[in-house]
Amino acid sequence: MSQAKMEDIISLCKRRGFIYQGSDVYGGLSGTWDYGPLGVQLKRNIMNLWWRRFVDERDDMYGVDAAILMNQKVWQASGHVDTFVDPLCEDTVNHRRYRTDHILKDNGVDTDGMTMEQMDAVIAEQGIKSPDGNPLSKSRTFNMMFKTHVGATESEDSISYLRPETAQGIFTDFKNVVDSFYPNLPFGIAQQGKAFRNEIAPRDFVFRSREFEQMEIEYFVDPEHWQEAFDELLAATHEFLAELGLKPEHIHELDVPAEDRAHYSKKTIDIEYDYPIGREELMGIAYRTDFDLMNIQRASGKSMEYTVKGTNTKFVPHVIEPSFGVERALMAVLSGAYREDEQNGEKRVYLALPEHLAPVKFAVSPLLKNKPELVEKAREVYAALTKANPGRVMWDDNGNIGKRYRRQDEIGTPYCVVIDFQTLEDGTVTVRERDTTEQRRVKVEEL
Ligand code: ATP
Repeated sequence: MSQAKMEDIISLCKRRGFIYQGSDVYGGLSGTWDYGPLGVQLKRNIMNLWWRRFVDERDDMYGVDAAILMNQKVWQASGHVDTFVDPLCEDTVNHRRYRTDHILKDNGVDTDGMTMEQMDAVIAEQGIKSPDGNPLSKSRTFNMMFKTHVGATESEDSISYLRPETAQGIFTDFKNVVDSFYPNLPFGIAQQGKAFRNEIAPRDFVFRSREFEQMEIEYFVDPEHWQEAFDELLAATHEFLAELGLKPEHIHELDVPAEDRAHYSKKTIDIEYDYPIGREELMGIAYRTDFDLMNIQRASGKSMEYTVKGTNTKFVPHVIEPSFGVERALMAVLSGAYREDEQNGEKRVYLALPEHLAPVKFAVSPLLKNKPELVEKAREVYAALTKANPGRVMWDDNGNIGKRYRRQDEIGTPYCVVIDFQTLEDGTVTVRERDTTEQRRVKVEEL
């Protein structure tokens, strides 16, 4: 897919009420996005499916919803205060700031495993300039956490951060969940919610945002059995991605080599997807050993040990972490579903969304909106369908039928239901299918 395609998707998202620039009316706020009525439904459908598969349908998973603002000790112990940084360099003429690794990547240099000093050396050797053609400064580190203060007095003690990941809320609640439920190992704690990163250069639509949403699991295991848990969660991840309608040929596993992994991780697989912007990370799954719980144990002075039921065996569990970004899943869904074809000599744009994800499942309309008997019957069908599919049925009587079909195609509605004069005679309606554009007559009860 070309860059133009990404622009087509962005423009469709805005035009049809999926995603708008955040604070649009005031000229926007870079890296923030607002979900419109269709976007919020699509996003919820993705998040609810994930919750159903990874939490509700499993008896080894526990859900939590931790606070976004946490005690600053959380981020000191986790290492985020010291090391959650990106390398930043500056155009020495206009002072625009860039992520050094992105500048190098855009110039065809693979920066995996490189230190900041090595990146600066490559920039100097190759004479790489800023996108405006000016010399670049030496790099420095930039911490991506948004800092704030809690309470009316600002001091060192009142510092807090908007969480840059949901994972630490899970680790912080590990002991509470064990005390309340005492689950058998292995078990997982899952959380969905907002995360905030002050990205130096947000870009590529929602792919790299400053405020986004994550769906994360910390799956606690006996270190002897980490591999089985890792394999099972990886397989469940692939099943979930298939249910999002993503084609297997667009999904790639990157087994991250040791030199590119966090020092505590014994194995990390990044799932990459062929986005219109290129192959990029959709989610990651990492074996994080006991790094996080040990940090908490050290910093809090509270034991994070788990006692195996009916024994005296105690240890700090190890953890497998599948970490999904909602926006990146949503962008994969949208770009995988975007289609253009020709119908009766006219270009048509449609979203071939899986039925269970489409924000609108049925659009209902009377063939002619100035015929009260058709409108009345159509309202009846609309009410019955809405009862069975709350929030997923749209009333659409704007413009002629052809225009309604085009509009519904663009938002990915699988079925357009039209009530016409024959409906009044035999109780059948026309159901027009999005992908094939075929029309069938179906009895109202069969809908
Ligand atoms: P990247 O290297 O692309 O910045 P990351 O490796 O820092 O990502 P993680 O810290 O592993 O990302 O976060 C887990 C997941 O959260 C990512 O796989 C991605 O889906 C999502 N994510 C991370 N940063 C962003 C962002 N700025 N905007 C949207 N989603 C994000």
